[in-house]
Amino acid sequence: MIDCVDSVFERTVFRPSIRRLPQLNLDTKVQCAFGASAWIRLAWLLTLQQHRTDLTLLRDLVEIDETSEPCPGHHEAVRSWYGLRDNEGYFVPDFHICYTDVRKIERLLPTLSGFFVRLTHRASHEKRVCGIRAGSNRFSIYLDALIVTHEQALASRKGPDPMPFVALVERKIRLRECTRDNMLIGGLWHFIPNVPALTVCEDCYEAVVEPEVKKNSDVAMRFNRTLQPVYGEGMGSSCQLYSRRMRKVFQRALQDNDVKYLARKANERRDAELRLQERYKDLVRRAKRLSKEGSGSEDDERRLERELERITDEWQAKWE
Ligand SMILES: [Zn+2]
Ligand SMILES: [Zn+2]
Repeated sequence: MIDCVDSVFERTVFRPSIRRLPQLNLDTKVQCAFGASAWIRLAWLLTLQQHRTDLTLLRDLVEIDETSEPCPGHHEAVRSWYGLRDNEGYFVPDFHICYTDVRKIERLLPTLSGFFVRLTHRASHEKRVCGIRAGSNRFSIYLDALIVTHEQALASRKGPDPMPFVALVERKIRLRECTRDNMLIGGLWHFIPNVPALTVCEDCYEAVVEPEVKKNSDVAMRFNRTLQPVYGEGMGSSCQLYSRRMRKVFQRALQDNDVKYLARKANERRDAELRLQERYKDLVRRAKRLSKEGSGSEDDERRLERELERITDEWQAKWE
């Protein structure tokens, strides 16, 4: 589990696709990277920050996982959903969080007890995705904001003020969520006109580029302010600015005011992405054919599985 902690914000499209392959059994690994580790990481950071000499927070998270239904993450599911109320008592529309995550938040940030409120019986039994799911870039943004809310409540010795978090959620909900390295055809993106390889989704633009536009950064101001299609995108485009690696590249380009460096890195990434996607698709076609014909031996399956893993590893280790 600890091995996965660092990679939790670095999910790749190659993984969920691997899960859909017939007869390949990589589920354990996938669940580990998607599941509890973002929370464990947070509990660990809080343990350090609060100079705790025990691992109670981590133990409590494990206990919550063992005693409640797992967060459905980005899969639509029926749960007893919780919502968020603004100062006037209205629920923020289209924001649902599962009870398991509510329990974790209340355990890690105790002033937020009762911050999330159970939705009405009917609403709470509709199929939804969880608003605070590990594996989404928004997870850390939301959790950071909740930590600030908690700390301010502690300092003021009053109840938590929900409004900054409500404003953040309302702003985020209006944006299409980052689809990370999923290839989209005909999508709309922010990009620098002569660096079309660096397609940035509206979610990441708002989180990473726009704050720099407000500081008049030359590199950031070169991006189209409005979403636009990319011409000649071939097999499609994906967001190039969700990973920690590329966000660091972007920061370095800003510091050195070096758009050429940014363009070189973006082009390298795009080339690698297209090459790996092509190889990946080819392997999937082969796996499907083998399973349809029933002609694949166990050795063939294992070989395909290993090759898929190699693609995933190369993508994550070098390019994502
Ligand atoms: Zn959840
Ligand atoms: Zn993005």
